[in-house]
Amino acid sequence: MGNVVEKAKIAAMSVSLSKAWQYLGNDPETNIPKLMDLVDKVAPEGWYEEQRKAFRGAIDAKNNWYQLIMKVWELDEGVRNTFFNNFIVNASLAGSAKQEKTKEKEGCNVPWAILLDPTSACNLHCTGCWAAEYGNRLNLTFDELDSIVTQGKKLGTYMYIFTGGEPMVRKKDIIALCEKHSDCEFLSFTNGTLIDEDFCHEMLRVKNFVPAISLEGFEEANDGRRGSGDYEKVMHAMELMKEHKLPFGISACYTSQNYQDISSEPFFDMIIDAGALFIWFFHYMPVGNGAVPELLPNPEQRTEVYKRIREFRQTKPIFSMDFQNDAEYVGGCIAGGRRYLHINAKGDVEPCVFIHYSNANIRECTLLEALKSPIFMAYHDGQPFNDNMLRPCPMLENPEKLRAMVKAADAKSTDYEAPESVDTLCGRCKSYAENWKPQADFLWEQCGKGKRDK
Ligand code: SF4
Repeated sequence: MGNVVEKAKIAAMSVSLSKAWQYLGNDPETNIPKLMDLVDKVAPEGWYEEQRKAFRGAIDAKNNWYQLIMKVWELDEGVRNTFFNNFIVNASLAGSAKQEKTKEKEGCNVPWAILLDPTSACNLHCTGCWAAEYGNRLNLTFDELDSIVTQGKKLGTYMYIFTGGEPMVRKKDIIALCEKHSDCEFLSFTNGTLIDEDFCHEMLRVKNFVPAISLEGFEEANDGRRGSGDYEKVMHAMELMKEHKLPFGISACYTSQNYQDISSEPFFDMIIDAGALFIWFFHYMPVGNGAVPELLPNPEQRTEVYKRIREFRQTKPIFSMDFQNDAEYVGGCIAGGRRYLHINAKGDVEPCVFIHYSNANIRECTLLEALKSPIFMAYHDGQPFNDNMLRPCPMLENPEKLRAMVKAADAKSTDYEAPESVDTLCGRCKSYAENWKPQADFLWEQCGKGKRDK
């Protein structure tokens, strides 16, 4: 019963917030504190209290977070309002309440976001990337993409993230999907090279599409892997989006080779100047037959990245997330539909974008059936995989767990290039996991979390 009351309060609050947002108009400096007063009045007791406190603190201190809020305010008004409605209200408030309800009823995980590969094709030929070899053979049709979103909304999912391949190879379909599902927010990982003036106008028209451009570091490192001239094209795409007041972010994968550049102050400053509002950091994952274990950061290198990102969170006006080191903020591994899942261009429903094992294909079952499939239920029953949130992953830091889940679920390899046995994959992660454990335990104790868990 308490839950029902709570959900009703959240629904009522969503309506109040949407109305309040419209009143903020062009004077955010005066009106944002007023909005926060309203949030405090209508929010259920204890609801996101810490976050609200931090937000209010940022406004009072006029610090880097405040500068970021002001940058969001400078975005195109229609895009900004749509983002608020789709991301904050639909995906995060009302959507989360609906996801909870579905979860209770169905006894399985229900995701906040769905990642989709519209295509395996790519317009670039980056060193080491399978897409260069794989070409244009695998695609989800528009109707399949549409059906996934339609099914997702029924469960409470309003956030969709394109991966690939290069999703922009299918930009017409992507825009058509944004248009059809105007109540959802769409984000796309992209190499950025297909973003031009026309596409910016399309983004302004649909208002619910946000790119996250991949960068490997500065020009030399980036073009060394992605090809000469790529960095310049990415800079041009960012310039165009800034000019059109469009939101965008960066996605960056750190390895033993580029970890210093990519987490450095000059890199942060460069992307902030270019107009990026967020950066997603990914730890290199040794997945697939072409994996290069030497690219895995060692414990000292990973610690350096962990510390720098936390340091810049206090000073830089950009929202940064570190997919491997931030599990403490989301209660551990978010895969298996706990917060997200991934559907590849063959239709295989995978627990995570890095975990290529599945028992379900969206061409043969519904989304809900996929969420109830053996590997998804193994995630549901096994999460969190470790009490130390700096060791969240059933593959990278606890490889014996993934091995056991895949075998018990009898899940099949869905790798694009060639099947990879779970023993090979987990064997590749074993020494990494053993080396990282003492350092992860030390850091976890150091920040006081380890003691609290005992
Ligand atoms: S499976 Fe690993 S990489 Fe994927 S979300 Fe979970 S912890 Fe992260």
